[in-house]
Amino acid sequence: MLESDILVLGGGPAGGAVAIGLRRMGYSVTLVGEPRPFDAVEGISDRVIQGMKGAGFNIALNEMAAPSPRQVTWNGLTSAANTERLVPRQRFDQALLLDLAQQGVQVVQGRVKGCQAEGPGYRAEVALSEGGEQQILAGFLVEARGRAAPAAGVPRVKGAQTVSLLQYWQGPAAEPRSAVQSFEDGWAWMALRGDGRRYLQLTLDVASADLPPKSELGDWCRARLEQLEQAQPFIEGAEPAGEVYARTSTPVLCEHSAGDNWIRIGDAAMAVDPLSGNGIFQALSSALQAPAVVNTLIRHPERAVLAKAFHEARIEGLFYRFARIGRDFYAQESQWPQRPFWQARSQWPDSQPLHLEVTPDQVSTARRPVVQDGFITEAHVVVTPDQPLGIWHLNGLPLAPLLEAVRAQSERAPADVLAGSLGEEKGSLLAQWMRQQGWL
Ligand code: FAD
Repeated sequence: MLESDILVLGGGPAGGAVAIGLRRMGYSVTLVGEPRPFDAVEGISDRVIQGMKGAGFNIALNEMAAPSPRQVTWNGLTSAANTERLVPRQRFDQALLLDLAQQGVQVVQGRVKGCQAEGPGYRAEVALSEGGEQQILAGFLVEARGRAAPAAGVPRVKGAQTVSLLQYWQGPAAEPRSAVQSFEDGWAWMALRGDGRRYLQLTLDVASADLPPKSELGDWCRARLEQLEQAQPFIEGAEPAGEVYARTSTPVLCEHSAGDNWIRIGDAAMAVDPLSGNGIFQALSSALQAPAVVNTLIRHPERAVLAKAFHEARIEGLFYRFARIGRDFYAQESQWPQRPFWQARSQWPDSQPLHLEVTPDQVSTARRPVVQDGFITEAHVVVTPDQPLGIWHLNGLPLAPLLEAVRAQSERAPADVLAGSLGEEKGSLLAQWMRQQGWL
């Protein structure tokens, strides 16, 4: 029997980041992970690298490829302006487990068979990868098993049902690259690694895709890919290798993602449409603040309501932000507005613009939960329609009292009021910034 303060289920980027964060706070942490059952490559941008460095993913970062060119054909137009880094997920996730072990997390490689509340904490049963079983007891549970996390009975918001079919092809070694192309029933993402392995992924609407039986899926994908111009450099001189792998990629948000002694993070809390290419980024974002939430729930149970509200509001905020980014990108594709795939996705989750215009009458100050010194606490913040969770500091300056001072002395120029406490130069810069934000 293993015992620790905290048990993390799932060793992807979210579970890994939280486990290291909690270990750094001095908790004993056990993480159970089993490698992904399929080989996948995913693309990330450079800002994710910064997040990973901060999270302590040192060995895993060595598995990251250098940025490679990415071509996008969307709404009939082709652009080749950006790059992405291709992450071989199985190797990356294995390296992440080494990072965890090196930073003092007890790593158990195996499959979680069950996990129940027991006494004041939880008991998990694990089928070990090397054979045998392991029981683990912990006072606090972090659910980070991604989309595979059990969610029976958890109320969830879901977007249109979506599936991504991943087909591997093998061809000669070539320069790594990736491409995206829309078509009338969905979109394709294609990646080529230096060793000649190709990952060709078709994302489709479950209800309208009219998929054939599993045994014919390979030929079905091949026929689709052969019609796509962007797919040609990936399939020429190459052949499909192995089975088609189907991944569910429906956007989904769990409406409750924290309790008094548990928390859901990463895709287990909310998973976004792969179109955004931001899944790993959002998993890290939701995970980086979670240690402060857990720390508060354990050490300051009297602040549990505040800590849970903080976590759930941030998860929900991230989910809708990425959902609206996806919606706007789908809406840019106007060639097949009547096709079910495009119709459903260009209107979901709502019609609210990604960024709301801010006018001074909509800006107020209020008390809201924030992270301070590793805990969730309440602070005086500025609330706007665009930032409903509040803005606390700008370069170390607490904004709410400064905005209130400007408003209380409305007969004076804001820059002069701010100069009183900040000096002339800073006061003038901050007044200008507040005006640009629509606060004045
Ligand atoms: P995961 O990375 O899913 O980690 C969960 C871990 O838990 C896995 O290792 C899993 O094996 C393990 N696990 C599950 N069940 C058990 C169990 N019972 N016992 C033990 N371990 C278990 N994101 C990008 O940034 N770029 C992309 O290009 C991209 N492409 C995508 C394409 C598709 C089709 C899909 C569906 C997603 C894509 N994503 C992409 C999203 C990305 O995969 C996830 O958002 C991200 O990995 C979430 O991290 P996580 O740690 O929450 O979960």
